[in-house]
This record gives sequence, C-alpha cells and structure tokens, in this order.
Amino acid sequence: MKLLILPGDGIGPEITAATLRVLEAASARFDLGLSFESREIGLAALKEHGTTLPDGILERARELDGVILGPLDQLRYPPADKGGLNPSAMFRVKLDLYANVRPARSRAGLGRPMDLVIMRECTEGFYPDRNMHQGSGEFMPVPGVALSVRKITAHACERIARRAFELSGKRKKLVTAVHKANVFRVTDGLYLDSVRAVAREFADVKLEEEIVDAMAAKLVRHPERYDVVLATNMYADILSDLASELSGSLGLAGSILAGEALCAAQAQHGSAPDIAGKDKANPTSLILSAAMLLEWIGEKRKLAACGEAGQAIDRAVDKVLAKRETRTADLGGKLGTRAFGEAVAAAL
Ligand code: NAD
Repeated sequence: MKLLILPGDGIGPEITAATLRVLEAASARFDLGLSFESREIGLAALKEHGTTLPDGILERARELDGVILGPLDQLRYPPADKGGLNPSAMFRVKLDLYANVRPARSRAGLGRPMDLVIMRECTEGFYPDRNMHQGSGEFMPVPGVALSVRKITAHACERIARRAFELSGKRKKLVTAVHKANVFRVTDGLYLDSVRAVAREFADVKLEEEIVDAMAAKLVRHPERYDVVLATNMYADILSDLASELSGSLGLAGSILAGEALCAAQAQHGSAPDIAGKDKANPTSLILSAAMLLEWIGEKRKLAACGEAGQAIDRAVDKVLAKRETRTADLGGKLGTRAFGEAVAAAL
C-alpha cells in the first residue's frame, strides 16, 4: 500500500514527519507493507515550480491508496493567476472528496465529556474556489460592493446526509441537521428537504433540526448530547473548530476528506505559522487523521489489519496523552513534535 505524502506549509513538515513515524510503527506491527511517496505542494512548490499545486499531483493521488495532506497557508498565497491555487479546494472538488468527517471526542480527561462527529459537505456552499464551473463565487461589481454566491445542490446534500445517517446508525442513532432555513429559505430549504428525504431511508436513526446560531450555544451548553452533526460547508467548518476545542483542543482534532474511492487525511487546524519550525506543534490531529484514513481504507477494501491499525493508533494516542508530561506544550506538556510522534510510535 502506498500513500501520497504532501507535507504542506508552516508546521506541516514537522507534524507530517511525526505522523509518518507513527504510520511506520503501525505498518510494522500490523504487517501493512505501507510505503510513502512525498511531493511538495504549497509555498515550497510555488518557489520551485511557480504554483502551489504542481501538475500531476492530483493524478498521482488517484493512482495511490490514500493521501496525507498537510495544512496549507492559503492566506499567504498570491492570486490564482500567479500560481496561488488552494490545494485543499482542488483535492475536494477535482477528486470529489466531498465528505469532511470531523470527530470531537474527549480524550484522557481533557476538555468536556463529549463524543460527536461533524459531517461536513465540502465541495460547494459559500466557498468561492469550489462553487463555480468557471470564475469565482466572489466578485466586486463596483468598488466598495462585494458579492458572494452560495451553491447548494440536492445531489450534494443527499449524499452527505446519507453518510451522516449511515455513520450515526453505527453510533448513537441521532443526526442533528444544522441549517438557517429561517433566513436562507431557498438554499437551506433545499438542504433540509434533501436531508428529510434521506432520513426516511433510515428508520432507526432519529433526525432533529437546529438553526445554526442556536446550535453554537447548545453545543457549548450540552456537547455530550450530540452524535452526528450534519451541516453544509461553512457552518460545519466553524462548528467543528468549536466542537474540537470544547473536546480538549483544536490540536487533537483528526479529520478525513472522503470520496467514494479515495480518502485524504487532513488535520482540522491550519498551518500555524506562529509556531512553525520550532518543534512546538502538536501532531495529534494529523496522527489521528492518518488513523481515520487507515480505518477508511480497511472498511472500503475489507482489510481487517488496516482497520485494526487505525484503532491501535487511536488507543496509543490516548495512552500518551494520559500523562501530562508526555503531552505537547499546547496541552501543558513538555514534549516537542518529534518526541510526541516517537512516544506514540513506542506506545503502539
Ligand atoms: P491555525 O489553525 O493555523 O492556528 C490557530 C491557532 O492554533 C494558532 O495559535 C496556532 O499556533 C494554533 N495551532 C494550530 N494547530 C496547532 C497544532 N497542531 N499544535 C499547536 N498549536 C496549533 O489558524 P490560522 O492561524 O488562522 O491560519 C493559518 C493559516 O492556515 C491560514 O493561511 C489559513 O488559511 C490556513 N488554514 C489552513 C487549513 C488547512 O489547510 N486545512 C485549515 C485552516 C486554516
């Protein structure tokens, strides 16, 4: 099995190195025969190739068994016509990695008691780099007036809703569909109609609906009562940072971008330029994302060892996080990025 490794910007190279150390240990223990092929994207690729997403990377992703996608510092990218493409958006749209699965579970006594998964649609919505066939979803008709277009389709809403109900059927059997149909009557109305239609296929899973602003408050008030939280792109993006911080830290939040045939592990957080290159970043988020990737491959291809390796990484992370002294600095611990990766590999 070969994974495409794209370390990305900022803390990306450091957390990716720590994650590969853990994957090597998992491969040895579970006899997965994992190998890695590394390529540059982001600011390093811009310097070398004049673009943040060099030709051939997406095609290579299609050929290999999975992707480790590091964080990207899009804020520092030049405009698209000067090479500043957003690789995250390109992976999601061009490879149709439409389901961004973002768990928020308390670990090792950190954060609030909770265990939920945000199911985020990530190929449309308000994001201007992924909702137009040509051109951008944001534009300025006259100086001082800026417009943004939001795309919602029944197709995208139905398939992400199906993933949410399937997942919840294996968990606590409650899907909370987040919306703002009181204001976005047409777009969020279409989303809600699509979700309700899919809900009828899953008689054993309860559907409840929450308006997004109230959901933010209720999530803080009772995070433990939620199971699978389903939302369109931007609501889910915001709520998932809130949820993962409530569960302990944004640095603990694993995440995958899953399509039908391909999956990429991508941490929930960004490139953290403020701590880049200092061996200070917490690699847990990417390590747990890689564990989710192995579980996804295991389930899709009926490879039991792969799924077990993913679960074992998850348990190893909990074991290392259990002691304060073996945590990283963001959680009050003493370990650097590299040492934390070594500790998880040893725990495996
Ligand atoms: P950020 O998530 O990079 O950082 C927010 C804060 O959390 C910072 O203080 C940072 O030091 C801290 N932090 C983040 N990850 C951490 C980790 N693993 N360990 C310890 N501390 C961590 O958000 P930002 O600073 O607003 O954005 C920086 C860049 O990242 C921007 O260019 C943004 O566009 C990009 N971004 C990329 C992604 C992605 O590639 N998936 C996601 C979000 C933001």
